[in-house]
Amino acid sequence: MCNAIDRLRRDRALPDGQMRALLLCEDRDVLSYLFQQARRVREEAYGRAVFIRGLVEFTNHCKNDCYYCGIRRSNAQAQRYRLQEEQILQCAQSGYRLGFRTIVLQGGEDPFFTDEKMVSIIRGIKSQHPDCAVTLSIGERPEKSYRAFFEAGADRYLLRHETADEAHYGLLHPAGMSFRHRMDCLKALKEIGFQTGCGFMVGSPYQTVDNLLSDLAFTAAFQPQMVGIGPFIPHRDTPFKDRAAGSALMTLKLLAIIRLLLPTVLLPATTALNTLLPDGCEQGMLAGANVVMPNLSPQGVRKKYMLYNNKASFGSEAAEALDSLRARMARIGYEVVCDRGDYRQPSC
Ligand code: SAH
Repeated sequence: MCNAIDRLRRDRALPDGQMRALLLCEDRDVLSYLFQQARRVREEAYGRAVFIRGLVEFTNHCKNDCYYCGIRRSNAQAQRYRLQEEQILQCAQSGYRLGFRTIVLQGGEDPFFTDEKMVSIIRGIKSQHPDCAVTLSIGERPEKSYRAFFEAGADRYLLRHETADEAHYGLLHPAGMSFRHRMDCLKALKEIGFQTGCGFMVGSPYQTVDNLLSDLAFTAAFQPQMVGIGPFIPHRDTPFKDRAAGSALMTLKLLAIIRLLLPTVLLPATTALNTLLPDGCEQGMLAGANVVMPNLSPQGVRKKYMLYNNKASFGSEAAEALDSLRARMARIGYEVVCDRGDYRQPSC
């Protein structure tokens, strides 16, 4: 199996049979070799720097009804909120003072935030903090909206593909939602010039190893600048409330494999991983991740942005959270840096 890992590192690809065997492998020595190789590749690209992104969860209103998600339209239990533009700018400013140089605006698909409102928020952040990157994670919009956001100064866009298998997509989403449309959005984002992120949940209901192989194949072919993956975690007020959570170990394996497929990709240790494992951030870094996204949302709304239950946080105050993250990273030999943390092209 270690030969397959060497091959994956060298070729940035692996035949399906070997990739499947690696996904199914639970041999501790093999896995520690996998993680070690992923760390090496990450350190060649980014050293031991940990990039931080300040996450502002600015609305939990959503017109979609994804079966897995706690802020889905049909969840009448969700307490809905929207931040005002002024509040969003304040979050960005407090993040800036703490050393964040990327602000991520994430939310449900909320038609209240028209293109004009989004453009105004993006411009506001960029004029307050010209040295900050702005990342959007607000789902599917028409191409012309994406262009307007890019022209307003947004730098990056996260849109997880959720699953690369159309039939599986249909099991996770209601009929009105379209796999093809999501994929078209991803292509448009990349063409427009965003640093673009795709990604998927690990252990989502009905997911098979074949689905994961498709996710990896899609990810390698799409060549995103960012990849977001985390375990599926059930939410009590969704149709998937009784489903098992995804595996943290499988998530770590996939992080390492993605690092080897895409050596310079920006790869977060996600909140969902940190929710399943108390040291999820550390383990994520040690498996090849190089990004963490601490929460900058106002205290009062954090619990309301509940995609899944028991969501982890680094602490109530952003400053305290950042100190704790710095200490956690330092303990494993990594260093949180104050940097935009842009994508770097692979050397060859
Ligand atoms: N509305 C935006 C942002 C979605 S929230 C969009 O459509 O892109 C960000 C991600 O959280 C989703 O892409 C999904 O992969 C993940 N997510 C949602 N529900 C989850 C759950 N129950 N467990 C784990 N991850 C979940």
